[in-house]
Amino acid sequence: MLKPGVLHRGSKLVIASHNEGKVRELGELFAPYGIDCVSAGSSDCPSPRRPATRRGQCALEARAAAAGSGLMALADDSGIEVEALGGAPGIHSARWGGEERDFGKAMQRVHDELEATGGAYTRANFICALALAAPNAENATFTGRVFGSIHWPPRGDRGFGYDPIFVPDGHTETFGEMDPGLKNALSHRLRAFEQMIEAVYANDA
Ligand code: IMP
Repeated sequence: MLKPGVLHRGSKLVIASHNEGKVRELGELFAPYGIDCVSAGSSDCPSPRRPATRRGQCALEARAAAAGSGLMALADDSGIEVEALGGAPGIHSARWGGEERDFGKAMQRVHDELEATGGAYTRANFICALALAAPNAENATFTGRVFGSIHWPPRGDRGFGYDPIFVPDGHTETFGEMDPGLKNALSHRLRAFEQMIEAVYANDA
């Protein structure tokens, strides 16, 4: 477990991800808290793979990055779950379009498999597990979801990954079309992030 207050204004935090979309969104979420984020790319952290669970995977990545850098580290393991596909792509989201991580192909595959089910039931959610770890291996994980539906064809180029085919409940734009600030205010990542801040951030400003 991590102690309350382990993150505070002025903390330096390694973001253990090579996914630029995630690093950008996490950096935006942390900015108001005065936490200085560096990406794993710039501090050269390993990215080990692959335990069976999302929480296990991101805890492993965060612990490896914290041990490698001597700093607090955060990992994000996220993806999209389509109900009619039994929760797929799920933990396979990153490679659903092949090893080269082609999200055009991945979105097409989601569409094709949904069509094969009849295409009428399009409920889906994004899920995000965040793991925060200290260099001594203490860590904690937090999970958030945002619910919505799959729309075809893809729309918008403002997000990343599956954003162009996901419309969150109560909205008409896809995450790919939406103002990035609005996506950040609705997202699975924000929901996991808020739990983490509640648990470990000391607001002593
Ligand atoms: P992983 O966490 O590295 O296994 O990758 C999960 C994949 O899910 C990412 O590469 C993205 O394609 C997708 N994903 C995760 N979060 C989002 C999001 O906020 N928008 C769109 N796609 C996402």
